[in-house]
Amino acid sequence: MSKIVIVGAGYAGVMAAAHLDRAGIPFTVVNNHDYHYFTTLLHEAAGGRGPAENYQVPIKEVLRKDTSELVIDEITGVDREKKVVKGKAGEYAYDYLIYSLGWISEYFGIKGLKENSMSITNLDSAVQIRQHIENEFKAYTQDHDPRHLRIALGGAGLTGIELMGELVDYIPTLCASLGISYNDVDMQCIEAMPTILPMVAEHLRPYVFETLTKKGARLRTGTKIMEVTPGVVHLDGGEKVEAGTIVWTGGVRANPLLADSGFTVDRRGKAKVNSFLQSTDDDHIFIAGDSAWAEDENGKPYPPTAQVAEQMGACVAHNLAALLAGKPMKNFKASLKGTLCSLGAEVGVGDAFGIPIKGATAGLMKEGSKIKYLWELGGVRLAGDRGKNVMQL
Ligand SMILES: Cc1cc2nc3c(=O)[nH]c(=O)nc-3n(C[C@H](O)[C@H](O)[C@H](O)COP(=O)(O)OP(=O)(O)OC[C@H]3O[C@@H](n4cnc5c(N)ncnc54)[C@H](O)[C@@H]3O)c2cc1C
Repeated sequence: MSKIVIVGAGYAGVMAAAHLDRAGIPFTVVNNHDYHYFTTLLHEAAGGRGPAENYQVPIKEVLRKDTSELVIDEITGVDREKKVVKGKAGEYAYDYLIYSLGWISEYFGIKGLKENSMSITNLDSAVQIRQHIENEFKAYTQDHDPRHLRIALGGAGLTGIELMGELVDYIPTLCASLGISYNDVDMQCIEAMPTILPMVAEHLRPYVFETLTKKGARLRTGTKIMEVTPGVVHLDGGEKVEAGTIVWTGGVRANPLLADSGFTVDRRGKAKVNSFLQSTDDDHIFIAGDSAWAEDENGKPYPPTAQVAEQMGACVAHNLAALLAGKPMKNFKASLKGTLCSLGAEVGVGDAFGIPIKGATAGLMKEGSKIKYLWELGGVRLAGDRGKNVMQL
């Protein structure tokens, strides 16, 4: 029997695993946590909307069959010649590999940015951001140093704006609990591009500005970060933003492990795949999610989003099962349903099937997408049990 190994249990990996599990095809999934976390909701955990357990599901709850094995390890490399994945705790031989280790932050060579900022990369880091902000605000009650109350977010794309949306809802409550005046807080998104949220229709962006600035945020576009030193963001033109909390949300790239393992990669480190999502360097390796350099029928690269990652996960599971059964594989074609950006718990902005939406409708659709995802992963069992937490019902 062929040995199948899946590395990474994010949106792509866990969806591939769920499909293979349902089909009763044996495999081993290697992930660095025993839970699958909802990356698209990490801004909620960082912004204090709910406790960490609301944003994860134990992988064992998704994989129910004895034919599925879970190993907790940190993957460090792939030896394609020996067909072995290397981890810190062991090596995992495979006949077929599904590679879905996702993304890491991209710092674009900005001096000191990586060393002197936090970023939302996983559930732990999201919780650390929330705790850090709380500690800074508590420190302010002791020494009244205004820097403790300044939060600088680098980047005003989806992650930066969604995080700001959470903060403008949460920080007033935090201030009230500590006896701090909300007027003394300074929260700014610093964006080098002339606009925010490039993936959202231009005519909707003023709504985002209005919603967030009314609640106390500053959105600074066309403002370039040149360097970050401890507690200080240095801007083009010489301005220094002294902030107790500095969070970078400005970009992602694929795990460097792909380039290090000799795969053909693009400038963001994603590995080239064919239409079946097999590596063009090795047809025993499928690559899915943000790690895959896949193009649509017009040669346009797919965006690094959870909805594409999930669909890729389902597709690689189908293609691997077909390959093992000697049946034809299918070409990957993503169905792009739109983009939704939450602006706190109640409203949002984006598009659904190409139709621009904003306000409570967008907020509700974003909430609904959480249940839909759990349903796809584990049917009524997960959507019912976990849905209550993630929707905070
Ligand atoms: C705050 C935020 C909001 C977002 N909002 C949206 C949204 O609204 N809609 C949308 O479509 N997309 C959104 N995205 C993008 C989306 O989350 C990613 O495109 C998606 O997570 C990619 O899925 P993936 O399976 O490739 O990787 P991931 O989901 O990142 O999964 C990778 C998995 O591999 C594990 N892993 C990583 N390295 C190792 C290692 N060395 N060893 C073992 N395991 C490892 C990780 O723990 C994780 O379980 C958002 C991203 C962020 C950060």
